Formats: sequence, C-alpha cells, structure tokens
Amino acid sequence: RPPGRGPKAGRRVMGSRPEPELDEIYREIILDHYRRPRNRGLVPDATVSAEGVNPICGDQLTLTLRLEGDTIAAVGFKGSGCAISQSSASLMTEAIRQRRLSDAARLKRAFEAMMIEGAAPTAELGDLEALQGVRKLPARVKCALLAWKVLGEALTERQGAATVTTEAEDDRSPAKG
Ligand code: ZN
Repeated sequence: RPPGRGPKAGRRVMGSRPEPELDEIYREIILDHYRRPRNRGLVPDATVSAEGVNPICGDQLTLTLRLEGDTIAAVGFKGSGCAISQSSASLMTEAIRQRRLSDAARLKRAFEAMMIEGAAPTAELGDLEALQGVRKLPARVKCALLAWKVLGEALTERQGAATVTTEAEDDRSPAKG
C-alpha cells in the first residue's frame, strides 16, 4: 500500500444507508416553505378560485389564479393546517406561477404519479420532489395532495369558484336538529 497517495480509506462506511442526508434536505425544504410560504395571500383580481379541505387532518386551502390567455399570470393561496399541506401548496404555487395551463396539468399528473403510484419524480418537479418522502407516511399523502386537488378543480372550472374535499361527501355528520 503506498502511503499517503491512495483514496482516503475510512471515509465511506460500507453497509450504511445510502445517502441518509437526503431526508434531511427534503425536510428542510418542506419546513422552509411552511415557515416562509411563497405566494401566500389571495390574488385580488383572480379569474379562478377553488377551495378544498382534508377533513382527516383538518387542512384547508383556498387557491386563486389570474389567468391571462392560457398562462397562469398570478397565483396565491391561503390556508391552514399541517406543515405538509401548507408547504405543498407553497411549492405548488412556485411550480405553476407564470406557466401555461398545459404545463400545470402535466406537473399535476407527475406529482400525483409520484405520490400515489410511487413513480420516479420527473426533473420538471424540481423541489416538489421533497414531498416524495411523505409516501412513507400514508396517512399524510392526502395532506400533500390537497393543493393539487384544489388546483385540478380550478383548472377544470376555469371560471368562478369551486370546492373540493379529499374525502367523500356522504360521511358528513348531519347538522344538529
Ligand atoms: Zn395535513
């Protein structure tokens, strides 16, 4: 063994988990968007709005878009709930801002494929990949999907207001009577 010239032995521990630091980076992205949400606040001259709830967790989200032709010229949201739901909304608004509707629809499909089917994230998803780890917490996947469900409703409506829920409507408890 020539001393001092070879690769530094002992730096790499064989058998350890591959890249354990990735989870930490992803957690930081999620927390950063939760603490400093981007595009927070409703767009005053919105052309489309939609809202949704995830009753299991208590997450709420209102999304507003100002469309100019087929471009999302402005996007804003307000909401409350867990860090995953709110950071997902913040990340989503960053991803779709100034994009065409067809791009937003494609991002939505890629994100849902990643979260629901476990598909590999496409490069286009960018920081949204940080939410992939939520798949390890199946009860929270709906938290991550709420913003995109609301976006889907907004894109479908294209005009006016809509409301969605992550749950079926029929299990609502009846009003007190
Ligand atoms: Zn939640």
